[in-house]
Amino acid sequence: MSIEDNIRKVIPYVPGEQPKDKVIKLNTNECPYPPSPRVFEALKDMDWERLRLYPDPLMSELIESIAGYYGVKTTEVFAGVGSDDVLSMCFLTFFAGDRPVLFPDITYSFYDVWADVYRIPYETKKLDEDFMIKAEDYYAANGGVVIANPNAPTGIGESLDLIKDILDHNRDSVVIVDEAYIDFGADSALPLISEYDNLIVVRTMSKSRAMAGMRIGYCFGNEKLIKYLNDVKYSVNSYTLNIPSIVAGKAAMEDREYFETIVSRIVKTREKTAKALADSGFEFFFSDTNFLFVKPPEQCPASYLFEKLREKGIYVRYFNKDRIKDRLRITIGTDEEMDALTDALKEITG
Ligand code: PMP
Repeated sequence: MSIEDNIRKVIPYVPGEQPKDKVIKLNTNECPYPPSPRVFEALKDMDWERLRLYPDPLMSELIESIAGYYGVKTTEVFAGVGSDDVLSMCFLTFFAGDRPVLFPDITYSFYDVWADVYRIPYETKKLDEDFMIKAEDYYAANGGVVIANPNAPTGIGESLDLIKDILDHNRDSVVIVDEAYIDFGADSALPLISEYDNLIVVRTMSKSRAMAGMRIGYCFGNEKLIKYLNDVKYSVNSYTLNIPSIVAGKAAMEDREYFETIVSRIVKTREKTAKALADSGFEFFFSDTNFLFVKPPEQCPASYLFEKLREKGIYVRYFNKDRIKDRLRITIGTDEEMDALTDALKEITG
């Protein structure tokens, strides 16, 4: 027996790099635009002396603004330190049984890490050759289901019919739909929370609301599920979001116009970039997100391109993983950044 035998050992999730130097950063699906001006105003006007106090554990200001924006009850909303925290709490709360939790083989690579760290049994289900989910795979007895819609890193959105099909076949387990990228395409499952008491819909302010640095995520579900989540949260850490995050989150949520403007700008740049890349011989599926998951032309392996782009100060994401090691995930930046990317790619691929 040694100390080692008592230690919880895990293989951690590896986030994309956050380089200190000034680079064109297209590797972690952040927003290329600043947060709403209202966020800066709210932070400037904040009573900073309040920082000597603990934040409101209920995060009422933020929860009320989220509930108001989406037209749901405050008791149907839960918030956390980024959707990673929300998802982690969901795994801890809803996947406490012995049956395996199911999710696709190619999806957000944090799911298996949370399953491992919390000792949750899980099984992955293979996406088809077009990287689409086969609903039947999720009919089997299970301890829960996790679907990212649109999926990452593929960028592909699934239909609401498929989500409903999976919900219908899993009335006895919780189905988490991770909608981190939903604002850039695909239909949200949010309207289904009143119909399905087994549904949790997870969202984030990191992408479409340009607030990755603030770390704000939230989810929706029926009151009973949200209460269970809060019970677990209060058993781990009552004060999750800090005061500036609550203030900034509320301000960002309330600026619908700014939000809609930056999302449509990103979607426009995505379509322009997609066309340029297709013209240069890159292959990809239609993206419903703020990134493209591209397969470079034969003569230029993805890993080589990844290194070459890096040398030119352009960071994208490469996953050295079965079935996707021939692809790069490229975040949509500003028009100028994407022009620099397509120029660099032309130079490298000749
Ligand atoms: N879900 C998916 C599918 C993601 O790609 C990400 C971003 N890495 C997250 C959740 C977590 O985002 P955040 O914690 O910034 O809200």
